[in-house]
Amino acid sequence: MKVALITGSSRGIGAAAAETLARAGYAVCINYIERQDKAEELVEKLTREGLQAICVQADVADAQAVKRMVQRVEQEFGPVTLLVNNAGISEQHQFQDISPEWWKRIFDVNLGGCFNCIQAVLPHMLHEHSGCIINISSIWGQHGASCEVAYSSTKHAIIGLTRSLAAELAPSGIRVNCVAPGVIDTDMVQVLGKETLDMLAEEIPLGRLGKPQEIAQSILFLADYASYTTGQVIASDGGFIL
Ligand code: NAD
Repeated sequence: MKVALITGSSRGIGAAAAETLARAGYAVCINYIERQDKAEELVEKLTREGLQAICVQADVADAQAVKRMVQRVEQEFGPVTLLVNNAGISEQHQFQDISPEWWKRIFDVNLGGCFNCIQAVLPHMLHEHSGCIINISSIWGQHGASCEVAYSSTKHAIIGLTRSLAAELAPSGIRVNCVAPGVIDTDMVQVLGKETLDMLAEEIPLGRLGKPQEIAQSILFLADYASYTTGQVIASDGGFIL
């Protein structure tokens, strides 16, 4: 049975990934930290279509909560065969204004969340000698960006985690890859305001922001159509940085 755990998936890229994977035959766990109503709505939508879905609340920065979430998925569907580390937070600050609390929190969620979730699903993947892990980085994980030092540092680290873990786990039959989205039209980028988003769209060679579904397609590609691909970063950014 194909079982996917997608973190931070009550909205945005995570929700699109959950829908796409459910339609591709995965039983999906929609993880959320807030907005239980949105997570439940998505589960209802998918189950009405005859697809398999549950939602589980957990802060990915909390290792014990992540363990309980993975146990719940195992009880409902069986062991996780695909982990999508999507949950993430961002805020723009000039470097001198970053508080130590924010620096710790963004690392705990964006990078620590990957660590906690991978550790929780890995024992079974190692036992089965198979599994797939997809981490969501960003173009700011490949390039620097002013006022994004904390976010960009976590997203660079996610690429380091991906490459090193891929090397370590390949002999165990487990693939680890990464998607680096460009500017995608979700709640996360709305803080930038319409004017800035319109300017960004003009700078992007494809002439528009990406849609969450387009990142979901890259995730599905890595999960189901890239069996000889590991340790790679797919930039899905409309050609923003070439
Ligand atoms: P979003 O803010 O809509 O989604 C992020 C999700 O993560 C939300 O559902 C949020 O509740 C959840 N989340 C936050 N902290 C959590 C925690 N501690 N535990 C569990 N869930 C938590 O934004 P999005 O654009 O859909 O972002 C999804 C991922 O894509 C993030 O990792 C983000 O960094 C990355 N990304 C987004 C863009 C973009 O332009 N939107 C670009 C590059 C990378």
